[in-house]
Formats: sequence, structure tokens, C-alpha cells
Amino acid sequence: MTFSPKSYYIGIDLGGSQIKYGIVSSSGKVLTRGGRLTPQKSGRRGVIDSLVEIADNLLNFARKNKIRIRAMGIGSPGCIDINSGKVLGSCPNLPFWVGTNLKQIFRKFSLPVTADNDANLMALAEAKFGAARNCRDVVCLTLGSGIGGGIILNGEIYRGSNFAAGEIGHTAVNFLGERCKCGRLDCMETYASANAMLKRSQKLARTDKKSLLNQLIRKNGNRLDVPTLFLAYGKKDRIAQKIVEETGETLSTGIANVVNILSPEMVVIGGGLVDENADIIKKIEKQVKQKAFPTATKNLKIRRAKLGNQAGFIGAAYQASQSSR
Ligand SMILES: [Zn+2]
Repeated sequence: MTFSPKSYYIGIDLGGSQIKYGIVSSSGKVLTRGGRLTPQKSGRRGVIDSLVEIADNLLNFARKNKIRIRAMGIGSPGCIDINSGKVLGSCPNLPFWVGTNLKQIFRKFSLPVTADNDANLMALAEAKFGAARNCRDVVCLTLGSGIGGGIILNGEIYRGSNFAAGEIGHTAVNFLGERCKCGRLDCMETYASANAMLKRSQKLARTDKKSLLNQLIRKNGNRLDVPTLFLAYGKKDRIAQKIVEETGETLSTGIANVVNILSPEMVVIGGGLVDENADIIKKIEKQVKQKAFPTATKNLKIRRAKLGNQAGFIGAAYQASQSSR
């Protein structure tokens, strides 16, 4: 591999279960990347040590390959004060993380550091280098253990008055009374995240022993993952079809709400439901166009995310590149 002498940036994406990272050029090209499990059980100190080790390794890689690293960026769950780097709150998956100063963690490297919410950075990456390239107003949703949301307005992340904007997963879409981790009833993520979809499928399959889904779950050691659910869906299993259709309806309702408020050019969806079945996006697009105002949906496109699980660290590196220009 040969590298040009231009500048590169470190991007790190801290998630509740995994840390993904890489070295990225200012045009979004990934030179090297990796991932490891978030050492949840070792608490704040363990996670900080892991992040410092990752940065150390990436800087060693850069030195060996004669690459100049100009800045580094980190994405983290929670509302992040981008000026101080402090995690303000809303971290149900990493509760001990609240209060951590993300910029301080990397102080010893003497490089400029930027920090932001992980879903904000995914949205930024998709808007600059991914599915929504060249779009100015973009809403991005990622369906994982929860639903992450990011809003790009006029080409820039919209964070609201206290860095808390974009929590589209925690807007109510139902009246069935399911309690969300955030404490509220009927949040979109309680019904349409990848985890919620699997949990509801398993519950229904348990009561229908003859169903294909029930058989597949038993064969799989009583576990269900998204590919298996879609295998049953493809074979027209009733439960899988019901769940996938309901999840699509829930998502289109939530997206139609956001479209009526923001009227973006594009909504990008990644993870969960859309990773296994490209046709679902078309269905969701059709439903959103039926549910939201026609003027707001006239030019609206709904697309699948392009950068996959690299979006977070690419966005973090891009943000670092913008602030160190
Ligand atoms: Zn919630």
C-alpha cells in the first residue's frame, strides 16, 4: 500500500457494545480500520483505557506508514457538549459514561480533538460521503439495539439548544403502552429497533409451535437474529411477515412525523430491518408518502445507508478534519 503525503484523521466510534475506529482521509477514504468490544464491565476507567490504547495503536500505524495525523474525532452515545467535550446525559446503554470529558481522554497525544454524539456523526458521514451525498437537509436513522437519530440541516449537524436534538427514536408512535428505556411510553425504538423487532417475533413464535419461525428459533439454540427472521419472512412465515410489516408501518409513521416537521430532501435508514431486505425501503417510502403532507414528500427520497458500521468513525474523522483546517 502506498500513501500520498496529504493529511489524515483518526476517527473513533464508541458504542454500547463495540468500538469502531479507523484512519480516514479528508475525502472520506478509509486507510485502515478495526473494531473491538466495549469493555462495559470494566466501567468508565476500562473504557477510557481502551480508547487510549486504540489511539496509540493508530498513531503507531501512522508513524510506520509515514502518514501525518492532523486531528482526531470521537463519537459517543449521549448528548455531548461539543465545546467542552463533556457527556451531558442520556446514555442508557453506558450509564457510567455520563460526566466523562471526551476531549480530556486524548490530551496526552497533543492533537486537536473533536467530540459529538455517535448518531449525529453517522448522519454527517452519510450526508458527506454516503447515501445522501450532495444533500443539504438529511435525517438519518440507525436501527440497532435502539434507534439512533441524526439531523443535518443546511449541510451541518443540528444539535438544538443543549446538544439534545435528533432523538427521533424517542418520539411516540403508538398507544400500546410499552415502556421505553428512557422511561417514556410508546417510543419508536420500543417497536422498530432491531432488538424490538426480534423480541416481539420471539414472543409470538413461542405461542405458535408449528410456525417455521418457532422451528428456526429452536434449531438456533432458542436464539433469533435478523437474518433468521428474514429467512422466515422470505418463506412467507406468518409471524415473520406480520412483524416485518408492523415494523415498517411503525417506521413510516415515525418518519412521516419528522418529514412533516423538517421536510428533508432525504431520509437515510441503516441497520435492522433494512439491512436484510432492500425492498422494505421502497415500501416505507411509499407509506411515508401516504402519511405525510404531499408538499413535504414531493421531492423526498428514502434510501438505505451506504457506509454501514463505518459511518460513525468516518463522521468523527470528517468532523476532526473540518475543525483543524
Ligand atoms: Zn424512549
